[in-house]
Amino acid sequence: MTLRLRAQWVLPITGPPIGNGEVVVEAGRIAAVRPAPPAVPDARDLGNAILMPGLVNAHTHLDYTVMRGALEDRPFFAWVRALVACKTVLDPEDWLASATFGAAEAVAGGITTVGDCTDSGAALHAAIALGLSGVIYQEVFGIDESRTVDAIMTELRGKVERMQSDATGTALTIGISPHAPYTVRPALFRALADYARGAQLPLCIHAAESRAEQELLQAGAGPIARMFARRGIAWQAPGVSTIAYLDAQGVLGPHTLLVHGVQVTEADRALWRERGAAWAHCPKSNAKLGNGVAPLTLLAGRDDPTDCPRVGLGSDSVASNNTMDLFEEMRVAVLLQRAVQQDVGALTAREIVEMATLGGARALGMDAQAGSLEPGKRADLCAVCPGALHGVPVYDPYSTLVYTARASDVMLTMIGGEIRYDATRGNRIEDRFPHLDLRPIRRRLDVAARKIRARYPFDTEVTS
Ligand SMILES: [Zn+2]
Repeated sequence: MTLRLRAQWVLPITGPPIGNGEVVVEAGRIAAVRPAPPAVPDARDLGNAILMPGLVNAHTHLDYTVMRGALEDRPFFAWVRALVACKTVLDPEDWLASATFGAAEAVAGGITTVGDCTDSGAALHAAIALGLSGVIYQEVFGIDESRTVDAIMTELRGKVERMQSDATGTALTIGISPHAPYTVRPALFRALADYARGAQLPLCIHAAESRAEQELLQAGAGPIARMFARRGIAWQAPGVSTIAYLDAQGVLGPHTLLVHGVQVTEADRALWRERGAAWAHCPKSNAKLGNGVAPLTLLAGRDDPTDCPRVGLGSDSVASNNTMDLFEEMRVAVLLQRAVQQDVGALTAREIVEMATLGGARALGMDAQAGSLEPGKRADLCAVCPGALHGVPVYDPYSTLVYTARASDVMLTMIGGEIRYDATRGNRIEDRFPHLDLRPIRRRLDVAARKIRARYPFDTEVTS
């Protein structure tokens, strides 16, 4: 079946914007991207919309959607501890409702591809339910010796095999995520590196996110080190940066996605470039948790024209970001870089739109299929119809997307040629997902939220 979508602007990303453009979709793939020929009866005209590739959210935790607003205003490590406490009150049905609601929020906001880290595994089923493409990384934890590396690895292999079987026939790949240098011990990192290499699994690691993490690695000091001492967790500070430490564990490679990268240096950059690792940039989460502003010029190699940046934009979980709105994320990314560097050229609207599409696809190793409107790629796209007041007029679609648009301006999301969200189906959000009944999911989310409310505000022993 052939579908023709027309819009006032078509944004291929790999080429200049096309005024009054058309995207032709055939058998789930893009067949043509061009100026719209004279009207034909079967074309769908999206009016004054901007038709663009689906957004790539390079770092999410769909599982944590129900924690939106539950863990506010704590220092980074106290926030981590509160999140761990909050997780204990939820059961598998809660996780599934939470992740599915989050996947619906993603698709309604124009996101078609995710790099998601899941502990419960629910995010995989949520992504399948909404038709999302991407990489679902099974998280692994194990800083103390309470479980042997062998026991953790045996359990992980079983989980990954089940997930790979469940993902058969979808556009989802399964990876593994050793959570962070302060939640995974060295022997476990090395076992995970061997497993990932042998089974060809992509890796995702939270890295160089906070000063607390840096203090732990460089000097064995700070709030994380104090918690280790209280709990009797053995720790020898390696005395090096996070990137050097991860490299010594063997986990940096071309299939490794690093997340955050606030505390990084030129020397680190040389190392991750040599290994070919990619980054997910999460500016709102970094700012809200008081961790800082990641040096994007370093992450993206922007001062080096030979670089092909493998940096994507990530919302991180709504437990730290509160909204999965990649338009707001783009806006914050540009404003923070310009504010910190005191330079309007620090990051442009066109560059951040590329990061939120093709950059994310590159970071996840999916750029042959996603991230731009090009014939042969999967028909993953979204149409953004800037609001009747705040989105008018449009002179430059890049400027409108970054400085004006909101997730709620998305009118249509298509994944693999299937319409997964269509705002013209009804005024109520529940009516806009052709393949999903959101009502029972919302009811179950409310049950999970009541459990969290009963334990709120998750005060933990860590205060700094
Ligand atoms: Zn994260």
